[in-house]
Amino acid sequence: MLVQFGTCRLELVQGDITRQEVDAIVNAANSRLAGGGGVDGAIHRAAGPTLMAETRTQHPDGCPTGSAVAASGGLLRAKFVFHAVGPIWRGGVSGEVELLKSAYRRCLELAVEHSCHSIAFPAISTGVYGYPIDLAAESSLSVAREFLLTKKQPNLVRFVLFDGGAFGAYARVLEAMAD
Ligand code: ADP
Repeated sequence: MLVQFGTCRLELVQGDITRQEVDAIVNAANSRLAGGGGVDGAIHRAAGPTLMAETRTQHPDGCPTGSAVAASGGLLRAKFVFHAVGPIWRGGVSGEVELLKSAYRRCLELAVEHSCHSIAFPAISTGVYGYPIDLAAESSLSVAREFLLTKKQPNLVRFVLFDGGAFGAYARVLEAMAD
C-alpha cells in the first residue's frame, strides 16, 4: 500500500526489515542498546558483529526511551541502522504515546541529518514491549505524515510489518488518513 504526501511516499509492506533496500533501517532497541530478541536480534544477525562493536563504542551510555541514535549498517543493504527506543506499554498512563511518537520523530530527523532518501521502520514497541498495534499504527503513521508534509523529506518512508495482523492494522489507519 502506498500513499503520496506532497512529493514524498509513505509505503506499507509485509516482510522482514533486514532485507529492505533503503538508506536506513530502524531497530526497535532497548535503552542499553544491548541487543535482544525480535527485530533487534534479526538486525544484529544480518548486520554482523560490527554493528554491536560500533554501537558500544559510539553510544556507551545507551539511548533514552523516546529517542534514537545512528550506527552504520555493516553487512546490511542499508547504509545506517538507527537504534530507536520505544516505551514499554504500561496501560497508556505513563506517557507511552508521546514517547513512541518522539522515537519515530527522532529517526526521521536522523534520516535528514544523514542525507537518507529512504528509511524503513518496524512497528516499534509492539512485540515484547506490548504496545497495542492499532494505537502504535495511529501514532507512528501520524508522525510520519506530519513530518513528510512539513519537512518534505525523506522521499520514502516504509513501514515493514512482520505479520498480516500488523499489516492490516496499519493499512486501516493509513486508509482513513488518506481519505
Ligand atoms: P519491542 O521490544 O520494541 O516490542 P520486538 O522486536 O519484540 O520489539 O517487536 C517489534 C515488532 O517487530 C513486532 O511487531 C514484531 O512482530 C516485529 N518484528 C520482529 N522481527 C521482525 C523483522 N525481522 N522485520 C520486521 N519486523 C519484525
